[in-house]
Amino acid sequence: MPETDMNLRVPGPTPVPAEVATAGSQPMVNHRGPEFAASMAAVLEGLKPFFGSESQPLLLTGSGTGALEAAVVNVLSPGDKVLSVTGGVFGDRFAAIAQAFGADVRFLRVEWREAAQVDAVVDAARGIPNLKAVLLTHNETSTGVTNDLPLIAAQLRSYVPQSLLLVDGVSSVGALPFEFDAWDLDVAVTGSQKAWMSPPGLSMIAVSERAWAAHRSATMPRFYWDFTKAQASGEKHTTPFTPAVGIVLALQTALSLMSSESKDAIFSRHERIGSRLRTGLHGLGLDLFAELQVASNTVTAVRLPERPSGSELIRDLRERGIVVAGGQDCLKGKIFRIGHMGWVHEEDIDAVLGALRDCLKGSIVEAAI
Ligand SMILES: *Cc1c(COP(=O)(O)O)cnc(C)c1O
Repeated sequence: MPETDMNLRVPGPTPVPAEVATAGSQPMVNHRGPEFAASMAAVLEGLKPFFGSESQPLLLTGSGTGALEAAVVNVLSPGDKVLSVTGGVFGDRFAAIAQAFGADVRFLRVEWREAAQVDAVVDAARGIPNLKAVLLTHNETSTGVTNDLPLIAAQLRSYVPQSLLLVDGVSSVGALPFEFDAWDLDVAVTGSQKAWMSPPGLSMIAVSERAWAAHRSATMPRFYWDFTKAQASGEKHTTPFTPAVGIVLALQTALSLMSSESKDAIFSRHERIGSRLRTGLHGLGLDLFAELQVASNTVTAVRLPERPSGSELIRDLRERGIVVAGGQDCLKGKIFRIGHMGWVHEEDIDAVLGALRDCLKGSIVEAAI
C-alpha cells in the first residue's frame, strides 16, 4: 500500500483533505499579483480566531523551527537572560536556538511526563534578575504533554511583568483553545503541517505590542526572519521574499474548511478524539507516557509494551496501513506517538485501535509458541 493511502498518524505532517491538496497543486500564480494578494488577505484574516488575536499575524516561509528562531532573534539581544521551561525535545530545541544566538539561558527542567508546575515557573522566573523572556512549549509533541499556558501566563504577568513570554504553539494553535490577546502572550508560533491540515512549509506568528517594543531595540542578527519586513509586507497582503505559494493556497482552503466547521467544534472534536484514544489504549492494556491529567489532545505518547518491540510494532502497524512515530532523543525505543491533530475523526482513531489490537494479539500468540 503506498503511504499516501495509509492513515498518517504521525504528529506532523498531518493528513491533508483532498480540496486542500488540490488547492496546493494549482498552476502557479504571480506572487506579486492581485490573486495571490487576495489569498494572503484571506489567510491572515482566517488565522486570527485560532490565535485568539485581533492583530494580523505574520506569515513566514519556513518550518516551525524557523519560526522559533524568528521568535528568538526578533525580540532578544545577546546576553539577555532567558528562562527555558523545558520538558521535552521541542523545549530543549527552543532553548538551544536562544543559546546559539547568545542568550544567557537558565533552565527549569520538568520531568518529561509531567507538565510544568506554575509555582516552580514563577519561582524560577523571580529568581533571575533582569529576566528578559520565558520560553515555554504549550504542547510538547515529544511527550504528549500540554502545559497550562493560561495559568502560567497569568502568574508570570503578575510576578515578572517586565518579562516576555515566548510560546511554541506549533502543535497546539489551531487545535487547542488558544487566546493570544486574552492570555497576554508576547510571541506565539505555529506551523502549517500540524493542526492546519496543510503541507509543511509555512509558519505563522502572533506578536504582542510589548514584543514589538522589544523588537525595536533587540540586536540579535536577523535578515530573512525580520519581523519588520514581514509586517510591512503583510499589511499589503504580500511577503518580503518569494513565499511557498502553493502552501499559502492550500492553507487558504484549509482555513475556509476550518471556519465552516467553527473553532469551537474543532476544539471539542480534538478533546473528544483525545479522550477516545486514551480510553481505547487503556482498554488494550497499554500505558500512556504522559500523566493522564496533562495528556495532550493533539498527540499521544504510549509506552512500548514488552512485545512486540518498538520497531516491530511500528512496522506491523504500517503493514496494517497505520503510520505512527517513534520516540525522540532519550525516548527512542521507549514510546511510540500517535498524532491526532487537524484532519482527524473518530474512525481514524478506531482504525488505529483496531490495528493495535491485532498487532498485540499477534505477538501474544507468537510469544506463546
Ligand atoms: C513539529 C514541532 C516543532 C518543529 O517544527 P518543524 O516544522 O519540524 O520545524 C517545534 N515545536 C513543536 C511543539 C512541534 O510539534
